[in-house]
Amino acid sequence: MLKKRNLILIIFFLITVIFSYTSIIFCSNKYTKEENNKVIKNHTIKTHSWYNTGHHNLDGGFINPWEKEFESPGFKGFMWVMGKLFKFIDYPKTPSVEINKKILFSKNPEFKIFWIGHATTLIKLGDLYIITDPVFSLTAGPTSFTGTSRKTPPAIEISNLPDIDIVLISHNHYDHLDKSSILEIKEKFNPLFMVPLNVKETLLDWDITNVIELDWYQYIEYNNLQINCTPAKHFSQRSIADRDETLWASWYVKSINSKYSFFFAGDTAYSPHFKEIGEKLGAPTAALMPIGAYKPRWFMSRVHVNPQEALQGFLDMKAENFIAIHWGTFALADEPFHEPMKETTKIAKEMQISAEKIHILPIGGYFSVDGKNE
Ligand SMILES: [Zn+2]
Ligand SMILES: [Zn+2]
Repeated sequence: MLKKRNLILIIFFLITVIFSYTSIIFCSNKYTKEENNKVIKNHTIKTHSWYNTGHHNLDGGFINPWEKEFESPGFKGFMWVMGKLFKFIDYPKTPSVEINKKILFSKNPEFKIFWIGHATTLIKLGDLYIITDPVFSLTAGPTSFTGTSRKTPPAIEISNLPDIDIVLISHNHYDHLDKSSILEIKEKFNPLFMVPLNVKETLLDWDITNVIELDWYQYIEYNNLQINCTPAKHFSQRSIADRDETLWASWYVKSINSKYSFFFAGDTAYSPHFKEIGEKLGAPTAALMPIGAYKPRWFMSRVHVNPQEALQGFLDMKAENFIAIHWGTFALADEPFHEPMKETTKIAKEMQISAEKIHILPIGGYFSVDGKNE
């Protein structure tokens, strides 16, 4: 017989595990206030002329403006989550290389992107180092023992990173906003954190105050960079009753004194936003596109692109280079672990996209504008 205390612990564990997988199923909303053209720590938040609040839910929170009706996956979704909990699979090792520290720390080339794993990339643009959705933990979840365990270690430890200037956060899911990584980065580098609307509150709760939050199509100018918060088709949730209360976003960063720019898609489904961003802000030098966590399609197509859609989004934006992210690190969905890289290569060929533009980097690998990649 189980002791009562053990039984309670097991029930608590199961509830936490189930919640960490079921964040897609539950739904609730709260109101958010609009903020324009204000000054935070000498950074003026500016708003593009085409800015609108079509993605603000009148009842509170946010919506995907391209999808009027939210259809909950309901019981079928719940059963998928339960099935996932009890699936035990051996995952193949994702290709990885030792990070090239000489390239990482050198001044040239002035624009380079390293894949650290999942949606975490390290970018040098001009004189600044930018990190996207830094997740270095062994588990993506509410606690270190619940959530999705990491299958591939990060390419570098936080303690070995160059001096980070800016952290870009796409949304509050645990595989993108990792408290322990954020705290360690803050402690070591005290960078500027850029977050979508309403995510600032979470960082303030963690005693991080150097935070700017933006709405879609708001931007700041910071040390020769224009940093734009741009749309994504996704959702947010960090606890059982905060569904869509905070905004999800992509980011588009342009160098003001050079021709280079990058688009970080965050987590997203396919929608007209790729074309719109390309038309409004121009074709980026590099588009960091998610390619994993897309099956089953009845469930995932509303929140994650598959490789074909990621490539279509890249074409919609007329981006110059495709950098694959969000695969080979956490096993979040049903597709075989390495299917995203195989499918992306195959479909890019079918779509007659030049192989030189498609960069499926190993973990630790880099893309740079001098044409050298590894
Ligand atoms: Zn997400
Ligand atoms: Zn994700």
